Amino acid sequence: MSLSPLLTVAKVSHTYPQHDTQALCDVSFTVDAGEFWVLMGPSGCGKSTLLNVLGAMDTPTQGEVLFAGQSLSSLSDNERTLLRRTHMGYVFQFFNLIPTLTVAENVALPLQLNQRSTGLSAKSIHAKVAELLSQLGLAQRADYYPSQLSGGEMQRAAIGRALIHQPKLLLADEPTGNLDTDNGDKVLQLLSTLCKERGTTIIMATHSEDVAKLGDTVLRLRNGRIHSLSNAVGV
Ligand code: ADP
Ligand code: MG
Repeated sequence: MSLSPLLTVAKVSHTYPQHDTQALCDVSFTVDAGEFWVLMGPSGCGKSTLLNVLGAMDTPTQGEVLFAGQSLSSLSDNERTLLRRTHMGYVFQFFNLIPTLTVAENVALPLQLNQRSTGLSAKSIHAKVAELLSQLGLAQRADYYPSQLSGGEMQRAAIGRALIHQPKLLLADEPTGNLDTDNGDKVLQLLSTLCKERGTTIIMATHSEDVAKLGDTVLRLRNGRIHSLSNAVGV
């Protein structure tokens, strides 16, 4: 077990001001670097809200999330944006690729946004993108636009974009919810293999019990509360 967990979630509750909806209630757990966590539970139980809070996209109304020991709520908006761009990758159900950019351009985007701080040359960005596209089986699709891809290809491109900057944490919200079982399985195997090779921590929401088997830990939510945790990590 590492000394400092990658994520510490301490008594997190979240209420949306609209309709005063309580989406999370007193949620606490810790995630170590390199683990693969799966979030399950019925629609509306708080999975997306939890991912948004873990990914510094939303601030919980109570409690705290620490990323590598640092409280997310203590950061300024700019610091949070920088943290997201540097250390986090996101994969969504509806891919969210930019339609006017090619596959290679979509995947390169995070490296380009970080270019000022990393100083990476256009040539090394190109090389990194080409290598990842080939690992994703998308080398032949580099110059295609999203509308010219199958669903499975779109999601592989989105995974490329989420991993290109080697984030510490990958958050995936029902990434196969829009794919048929075969394509969904392939995408997940790839995601799981790439993350293991790179030591990336994954937290993924899914409805599929089969998908859940890929995870080290399964966290089940009910009405915004932890219903069960499949192992003893961090309870
Ligand atoms: P899940 O991803 O498990 O389906 P969500 O996190 O999306 O669940 O939603 C949890 C609860 O919060 C639901 O009751 C939902 O209606 C509510 N909710 C989600 N987003 C908002 C929002 N922007 N405003 C108000 N209520 C919301
Ligand atoms: Mg959701």
